[in-house]
Amino acid sequence: MIIHLNKNLTPAEAQNIAHQTQSIFIEKEEYYVLITFSSVKELPEIVKGKEIQYFVMPDDIQLASKHYLPDVRTIQIPNAVFGGASKNTIVITGPCSIESEEQIEQSAQLLTELGITTLRAGCFKPRTSPYSFQGLGLEGLKLLAKMREKYGLNIITEVRDASHVNLVIEYADIVQIGAKAMYDHGILRTCGKTTRPVLLKRGFGTTLQEFVQAAEFILSGGNENVILCERGIRTFETKTRFTLDLCGVAYLKKHINLPIILDPSHAIGYAYGVADLTRACLAMGIDGLLIETHPNPQIAKSDASQQLNHQQFKDLFFSLKPIADAIGKNLI
Ligand code: PEP
Ligand code: MN
Repeated sequence: MIIHLNKNLTPAEAQNIAHQTQSIFIEKEEYYVLITFSSVKELPEIVKGKEIQYFVMPDDIQLASKHYLPDVRTIQIPNAVFGGASKNTIVITGPCSIESEEQIEQSAQLLTELGITTLRAGCFKPRTSPYSFQGLGLEGLKLLAKMREKYGLNIITEVRDASHVNLVIEYADIVQIGAKAMYDHGILRTCGKTTRPVLLKRGFGTTLQEFVQAAEFILSGGNENVILCERGIRTFETKTRFTLDLCGVAYLKKHINLPIILDPSHAIGYAYGVADLTRACLAMGIDGLLIETHPNPQIAKSDASQQLNHQQFKDLFFSLKPIADAIGKNLI
């Protein structure tokens, strides 16, 4: 159950009620929010007679549920707004890993040429092997910040573990939590304490319920800016790297109030299918797309097989316009 308490109570009084009802407590500008255990369906005695608004939730999804907020949340970053009533689909691109200043500058120039605003590159890479490139770390964050300043771009980069989460929050306009890190409660809870938007990727072995429950850890910490990213799940199929779960996206659109970004690059794992998949994803009317691009994919230090070169990305980008028009979306 979610209870909004009127601000005619002091924070201490409201916190005491939260304590008595074993609720999570969030102080918002307009009211206090108490979130009880999901099993609570009867209004606690202690709030009866007080000025409240309350929402009895059918299951363990609470803040992210459309039973609570029927409209999709809007995300505002310095140069873009998407989700909610904005009608914008954000097109996020850049290399899997930032490798050098020259490489990321070429990526920044590609975005500028196309009039899109949000550059993504990993600095702390969660690799399957310790013997592969692990990312440039802080040096990479500084290069991304330089590109933001020089080209007026938003930047997204990912957190690999809790040791550098605050550093990434400090540098990024959107913090990405990757598929392997999405169960890390240190990361989730730290991201709950900031207002920085968080792009939460679905783990490849994660059910939709578990995925949204991970988002609830961030939301219940007080951060309202959570974006879900479907990037493919592991199935019996081995010809493609993962299986993009578009049925899951339909489910999320119906039941969940968080914006949805689709990542066809990591789903298929091969550049040949990325354009077709991207068009299919956009046609679902989602809030954003995440596509990996590299000035020279053959020499990329991570995810070389799936990154589009810049010409391939331009061809794809121009083919998206009629689809965006047909579903009433602007590509930003
Ligand atoms: C990435 O975005 O480069 C990445 C590592 O993705 P995922 O966490 O989805 O595997
Ligand atoms: Mn990648």
